[in-house]
Amino acid sequence: MDLRLTFLGTGAGYPTPERNVTALAVERGRRLYLLDCGEGTLRALQAAGVGYGRLRAVLFSHFHADHCLGLPGLLQTFQLMGRERRLDVYGPPGTKEFVRRAVNLAPFSPGFCTIAHEVAPDTPVELDGLTVTSAWMDHSAPVLGYRLQELDQPGRMDAERARALGVPEGPALGRLKAGETVIGADGRTVRPEEVVGRSRPGRSLVFSSDTRPNRNLTELAEGADLLVHDSTFTGEHRERANETGHSTAAQAAATAREAGVGTLYLWHFSQRYRDSDTHLSEARAVFPATEASVDGLSLELPLGKD
Ligand SMILES: [Zn+2]
Ligand SMILES: [Zn+2]
Repeated sequence: MDLRLTFLGTGAGYPTPERNVTALAVERGRRLYLLDCGEGTLRALQAAGVGYGRLRAVLFSHFHADHCLGLPGLLQTFQLMGRERRLDVYGPPGTKEFVRRAVNLAPFSPGFCTIAHEVAPDTPVELDGLTVTSAWMDHSAPVLGYRLQELDQPGRMDAERARALGVPEGPALGRLKAGETVIGADGRTVRPEEVVGRSRPGRSLVFSSDTRPNRNLTELAEGADLLVHDSTFTGEHRERANETGHSTAAQAAATAREAGVGTLYLWHFSQRYRDSDTHLSEARAVFPATEASVDGLSLELPLGKD
């Protein structure tokens, strides 16, 4: 199943022509999830060509304006589109009140349910084959960081070998892939391990949102394929980062190194910087597998080899 991330907004505080405020789209198969939903998220989804009608859930890190003001407009648009399917919204305490206000902000009667869930870090949430774990970050408001962990995926099917063993085309192949034994055309029993490779580890994505470096995040991100981390400031403004509950690029990189992640993506850049070159060089000096996100950047997370 394809797993794709698209950065919809990579700036902090307020939107500019170059960077929208925070939002990230995660597409897995036909399902779409949003991590935060800052003002302008709907247009960013359209610009990135992400089909937002299939949005399944929104996960909020916290309710500072640059992370959440896109929800009321998104709900109203769904109403205009005639949405009937429910929308789930997850987040820290305060999520139920925020959703209630978002639904009632302008007079409209949605034809669909928006269900708010207040998440407890010790209780993972199951979302269509993804396990969502959360942890408290260290910011000026209660912030949840999230880990989206896919279950292990079935190995690759050797269709030619299956055919040679007399497995008929169609549902029998799917049953083998799901780990069941099937009977071939000549009555021979075919076991899954004869035609399906070893299962492949599920992919994992960790999203810090606004935070100072902290132990919970290092633990949450342990061994993740990808970490998206607050990188509001460069080293020159380290004090400011600490005062406002954010991280520098080098601090993000130190967390990525300690957690042993595959790739680090910096985001949530302060609008005071013209570009992210300094962030990137400071971070790469600590953790070379670092990239700087830009609005509209979209990447596929491949499954590991079997
Ligand atoms: Zn923010
Ligand atoms: Zn914040």
